Amino acid sequence: MSCPSCGSTNIEEGVSIGKSAEGGCIGPRFSGFLFDGVAQMYCDICLNCGEITRFFIKEDTDKKWIKKPGAFGVK
Ligand SMILES: [Zn+2]
Repeated sequence: MSCPSCGSTNIEEGVSIGKSAEGGCIGPRFSGFLFDGVAQMYCDICLNCGEITRFFIKEDTDKKWIKKPGAFGVK
C-alpha cells in the first residue's frame, strides 16, 4: 500500500487513535446490550508527508452502529 498523496510506501500501520477517559471519545459508536460503546480506532500514517491514509477498527464489525449524531451516552 502506498500513500495516495505522495506515493511513499513508508507507512506506519495500525497506530491507535487516542481516547481520553473524560469526554472526547473518538470513534464509531455502536449500541450495546447495556450501554453504548465506542470502537477503538486505528490509522495508518504516511511517515513521509504525514497523511493519514486509512482509518479502521480491529474489533468485530457485527454491531448495531449508531448513525444519529448526539452527545455520547445520551439517548
Ligand atoms: Zn505521503
